[in-house]
Amino acid sequence: MEKKKSITIKSKGVSINTPVKDLKIKKIIVERIADPIGYMKKNFRKSGKTYTTFLKGLLNRKLRGLDSVALTLNKKAFEKIDCLSCANCCKTMSPTYKKADVRRISKHLGMTFQQYYDKYLYKDESGDYMNKSVPCQFLRPDNMCSIYEVRPRDCSGFPHTQNRDFKLYISGTHIQNIEYCPITMNIVEKMHDIVIQKKIRNLNGKKHCD
Ligand code: SF4
Ligand code: SF4
Repeated sequence: MEKKKSITIKSKGVSINTPVKDLKIKKIIVERIADPIGYMKKNFRKSGKTYTTFLKGLLNRKLRGLDSVALTLNKKAFEKIDCLSCANCCKTMSPTYKKADVRRISKHLGMTFQQYYDKYLYKDESGDYMNKSVPCQFLRPDNMCSIYEVRPRDCSGFPHTQNRDFKLYISGTHIQNIEYCPITMNIVEKMHDIVIQKKIRNLNGKKHCD
């Protein structure tokens, strides 16, 4: 019988003897960001202005494969960062509610539209409904959402880095979110590394994202 090759790796001070073929899985675990908010704040202090300028510049750059690289970086960022150890969006920002969201959530809570509005919302200058206060009233102490199944569409789609057409969301979303969302910060940091540090112009293929 063929003997499996193994290697000893260290994770958080603990030595693990692992078959070489399992290393990829172990690597993902080792690379998880334990303190996403701390990571984001540190990076924003250090490079926030650079990343903002970089994102604005992307709007005028012609880069082949930008969307495909953005989606790969998005997947990797979600592997590294656990939203349940963060919840910074629910703690510091209001979702933008559409009427349909308010109808669905108020019905779920056994309230009328108006009762829900009076208790929790105000209308901003664009006519969107916003929470009166942060953290969100539905955020539980364990960082779970108490109305998860009926939460606003803005919440289920957040941070919008999983959408096609990365450029479309730069001005209104990603530039703001590098200060609030560790996943957005991680994607922009890696994208900056690929485009500016490594000067890669044709982004087709996933090898740049490693
Ligand atoms: S989407 Fe971003 S801000 Fe919200 S919990 Fe996940 S990492 Fe944190
Ligand atoms: S509705 Fe849920 S997901 Fe949306 S901000 Fe509130 S707690 Fe977070």
